[in-house]
Amino acid sequence: MTSISKNLKFYKNRIPSHVRLIVVSKNQSADHIREAYKAGQHAFGESYVQEALEKQALLRDLNIEWHYIGNIQSNKTKLIAENFDWVQSVNRLSIVEKLNHYRSPLKPLNVCIEVNIDNEETKSGIAKENVFAFAKKIGSLPHLKCRGLMVIPNASNDEQQLLASFQKTTTLFNELKQHGFALDTLSMGMTADFELAIKAGSNMIRIGRGVFGN
Ligand SMILES: *Cc1c(COP(=O)(O)O)cnc(C)c1O
Repeated sequence: MTSISKNLKFYKNRIPSHVRLIVVSKNQSADHIREAYKAGQHAFGESYVQEALEKQALLRDLNIEWHYIGNIQSNKTKLIAENFDWVQSVNRLSIVEKLNHYRSPLKPLNVCIEVNIDNEETKSGIAKENVFAFAKKIGSLPHLKCRGLMVIPNASNDEQQLLASFQKTTTLFNELKQHGFALDTLSMGMTADFELAIKAGSNMIRIGRGVFGN
């Protein structure tokens, strides 16, 4: 067994069945993605548009579900809307409007709202107070489907703070659902903190290094 398939097996055994695994393949070759695919992993996350498109071109024979998880530049919205199944990092009004504009009416683009849960000044993401209004806006755009929230807590948090940040995001997610938003995805947890995130209520984790190595 290769190390990629061994690592995937580790996650399959570790995570409960209600949690989806997205393998983050940024900086990885198309061959590595193909190897993970052969081991049964069909959903991948990418952070750089150009790099992702080059690999997508090499992997057309596979039925991959592509997630965009990176920073979104306005001039890349067309390419993102046309070439991904999910965008987990929407965080600006002008961006969602453009994604909606460029998305084919035939199949809505799944999106998650990136939440800046720790109110970090240098980080992108919607402030907690503004998430309701933002979700409502997405709800008015016919070619987008708001699936939930995505969060990356402050990297310098200790374990207790990290858990608290995840829990705050779960509370927000539940409040949105109680108010009638049909959300099903809470994307939180990476290699270093996925167990804590699942404990706090995550149902989608994004793992890069844990599968491909450092
Ligand atoms: C790179 C990245 C990940 C994966 O991080 P690892 O520590 O390699 O598991 C997850 N989410 C986002 C948004 C990323 O940019």
